[in-house]
Amino acid sequence: MLILGLETSCDETGVALYDTDRGLLAHALFSQVDIHVEYGGVVPELASRDHVRKTLPLLEQVLAEAGCSAADIDGVAYTAGPGLVGALMVGATLARALAWGWGVPALGVHHMEGHLLAPMLEAERPEFPFVALLVSGGHTQLVRVDGIGQYRLLGESLDDAAGEAFDKAAKMLGLPYPGGPHIARLAERGDPARFDFPRPMVNRPGLDFSFSGLKTYTLNTVNDCREAAAGLTEQDRCDIARAFEEAVVATLVIKCRRALRQEHLDTLVMAGGVSANRNLRATLERALAKEHARVFYPAPEFCTDNGAMIAYAGAQRLLAGQVDDEESRVRPRWPMAELPPLSRAAHGAGG
Ligand code: ATP
Ligand code: MG
Ligand code: FE
Repeated sequence: MLILGLETSCDETGVALYDTDRGLLAHALFSQVDIHVEYGGVVPELASRDHVRKTLPLLEQVLAEAGCSAADIDGVAYTAGPGLVGALMVGATLARALAWGWGVPALGVHHMEGHLLAPMLEAERPEFPFVALLVSGGHTQLVRVDGIGQYRLLGESLDDAAGEAFDKAAKMLGLPYPGGPHIARLAERGDPARFDFPRPMVNRPGLDFSFSGLKTYTLNTVNDCREAAAGLTEQDRCDIARAFEEAVVATLVIKCRRALRQEHLDTLVMAGGVSANRNLRATLERALAKEHARVFYPAPEFCTDNGAMIAYAGAQRLLAGQVDDEESRVRPRWPMAELPPLSRAAHGAGG
C-alpha cells in the first residue's frame, strides 16, 4: 500500500511517500524559517500561504524521486491537528481533493501521533509497550503507549513546552528562531561548571514538567552578565546556553527514568524537535543503560516536523481500515488520548 503523507501544521511543508511493504520511498521538506525569521516567530497567515505554494511542487518532487506516478498512490494521509488552523486547512483541503480525484481514501492524522511513531521509520524499531517522551515546540509529554492509538498521558508541562523554552532562551541570547539548534551549538563551547541552573520540579513527585521558572532564571542570569563590566560576552552566552541545556536535559532524564519505573517498562521512545538534541540523547542513553532500559529516537531529520511521520502513521491506520468520513475536519486542538486504537478503527469508528 503506497501512502502519500502531507504535513502542514505549522511552518514546514512536508511531503512523503511511504510504502507498507518497501518502507519510505521519498520525502521532501520545505522549511519556512526564512519567511518568519524577521518576526521572531511563526506568522499564521504567511504560513498558510506558503503551504499553498509549496505542497504540489514537493509532491511532484517526491513522485519523481520515488519513480512513481499518482496512479500508484493508494491513500492520502494529512495532518488534521493539532496546529495552526489555516495551515492545517491547506493540507486537509489539498489532501482530500487529491484523494477524491484519484479515487482513494484520505485520512486525517494526529500530528503528535506522527511524531510518536517517527522512530518506527528506523531499521531498529521499539516494541510496544513503551513510554514515550514527546518533546517539541508545543508539547512536553510523557505517554504510556500500549499500541497505536492506545495512549495514556502520564505527565506534561504545566506551562512552556521544552522546545518553546529553548526558543525563548535563545531569544534572550540574541539567537534566531527556532532557537533549539542554536542553543545546542553555543552550549558545546560552554563551561558546564560555571552556572548551576535550577532543575524544575524534580523534587516534586509525579511526572509533570514546568519550564517557566528556568526561563526567568535564564533571563536574570543574562541581565546579571549584561550589568558586569565586560557586558554579555561570547563566553557568557556559551556558558548560559550550556547551563540552560543541562538543566532541561537533567529534568527530562529524571522524569523519563521515573516514568519507566512507575510503569515497570524498559523501553523509552523519544520524539519531537528537542529529541534531536545530542546532549539529551547521550545523557538519556547513559542514564537508561544503568537501568537496563533502552531509548529509541528518530533520525535527526525526522525529529522535527516532516511528511514521512505523517505518511507512516496514516499508513498504519489506513491499513487497518480507518478512513475519513464526511464529518472529518481539522482539529487545531486535539488531545491524543481521543484517538481510537487500531483495532476499533478497523471496525469503522474512524476519524
Ligand atoms: P508541535 O509538534 O508540538 O506542534 P512543533 O511542530 O513546532 O511543535 P517540532 O517541529 O517537533 O515542534 O520541533 C521544533 C522545536 O524543536 C523547536 O522549539 C526547536 O527549537 C526545537 N529543537 C530543534 N532542534 C533542537 C535541538 N538540537 N536542541 C533543542 N531543541 C531543538
Ligand atoms: Mg517547526
Ligand atoms: Fe511538530
